[in-house]
Amino acid sequence: MDDRSRALDAARRHADAFLASLPDRPVWPRATYEEMVAAFDEDLPAAGMDPAAVVDALAEIADPGINAMPGGRFFGFVIGGTLPAALAADWLCSAWDQNAGLAQVTPSAAAVEVVVEKWIVDLLGLRHGSAVGLVTGAMMANYTCLAAARNAVLGAAGWDLAAKGMTGAPPIRFVVGERTHGTIERSAKLLGFGTDEIIRVPSDDQGRMRVDGLERVLETGPGPLIVCLQAGEVHTGAFDSFPDLVGLAQEHGGWVHVDGAFGLWAAASEATRHLTAGVGLADSWTTDGHKTLNVPYDCGFAIVANRAALGSVFGVSADYLIDAAGDPIERTPEFSRRARGFAVWAALKSLGRQGVSDLVEGLAARAAQMAEGLAQIPGVTVVAEVPFTQVMLACRDDDTTRLLGQRLLDDGTAALTPGVWRGRAVQRCSVSNWATTPDDVEATLAAVRRLAAELA
Ligand SMILES: *Cc1c(COP(=O)(O)O)cnc(C)c1O
Repeated sequence: MDDRSRALDAARRHADAFLASLPDRPVWPRATYEEMVAAFDEDLPAAGMDPAAVVDALAEIADPGINAMPGGRFFGFVIGGTLPAALAADWLCSAWDQNAGLAQVTPSAAAVEVVVEKWIVDLLGLRHGSAVGLVTGAMMANYTCLAAARNAVLGAAGWDLAAKGMTGAPPIRFVVGERTHGTIERSAKLLGFGTDEIIRVPSDDQGRMRVDGLERVLETGPGPLIVCLQAGEVHTGAFDSFPDLVGLAQEHGGWVHVDGAFGLWAAASEATRHLTAGVGLADSWTTDGHKTLNVPYDCGFAIVANRAALGSVFGVSADYLIDAAGDPIERTPEFSRRARGFAVWAALKSLGRQGVSDLVEGLAARAAQMAEGLAQIPGVTVVAEVPFTQVMLACRDDDTTRLLGQRLLDDGTAALTPGVWRGRAVQRCSVSNWATTPDDVEATLAAVRRLAAELA
């Protein structure tokens, strides 16, 4: 066998072994960051090494510091796993090594993105004909959509932002809910909005934007307006009331953007679709591929109903690019990038419409199972309602809550991650992995029950 085949064989062997170890290995890494720096650190070797031996060395050194994130009992942050077809397609994507931006140069990569665009817009019940840019994640999707929004609302006010720039532009009211995700603020900063300029509408006790709060903000008068709503608050999974809020903002000439990093997928299942009622009338939407859809990192979707608005920011002209008009390169901030569409296509093709629905429904069902189980554990409280896939628990005081989370990581059965909800320490449990089974939930509940009893 040649070097390349031996290297690929080694990768395949290590990948299989790792994935097979997921049910049994401790979820949290056994090694610390400092230990891993020490393990990797050496002077750059003067001479090279055989590719297969490099892969063996990488797998061996990295292993203690690898988190069992793709396993069924990692519930931290909001982290999806990887569907088998998506993982394999992602390997192929690396082998093909296509630079996905230009349709004439990499026709398969570009074609697959047009097809997944159609599938996703349809599955999520969004506006027919919306453009989808395949970016690294919801952060970049928020940025991409909001850049389009900024150009569009200024354009409507007679200001050509692309030509004239920000200096002297009419002010934009940039409105968010009190519980907006940090990536909306980061996007705002990248787009030239100061954090002091951001208008924050109060949220209710589940983290949903208050309708009367938005009404009050809109009373402040006309002018360019962007309103950021949320499909899936990161702690509670709560959905803003789109039927009330979208129309209200649009009546005032606002561009409505919805961050639905994980929650927008509720629209793909009969059982949860009610949560997203009215969301399809917004102007742009963010969602992730690497969360609810379970494609490998990294993958997000910037979805914009008005293609021209997206093109006004990301349209390109460069003499050496062949004809880029309408190509993937005009839908994302990146010029060169990975052909993410292949893994998305593979995920959706392997699931089918029914499979996507079952996936979403399954995640919500496991979350409900988790919440019911936690509520029965003495000394443990489920902190908010559980409409979708996010569950939060708290113990009798903040220290005990933190300690319980730490003990669970040390124990290795499952991983929850800490947070603060309305001033109270919580442990967050996000059910986002296709591989999580009812047994995984039961095993997690058993560990929490045991550890909570020890702390009582
Ligand atoms: C995860 C998340 C983000 C950020 O997504 P990335 O994929 O990490 O860039 C933004 N908004 C919400 C609501 C999220 O859950």
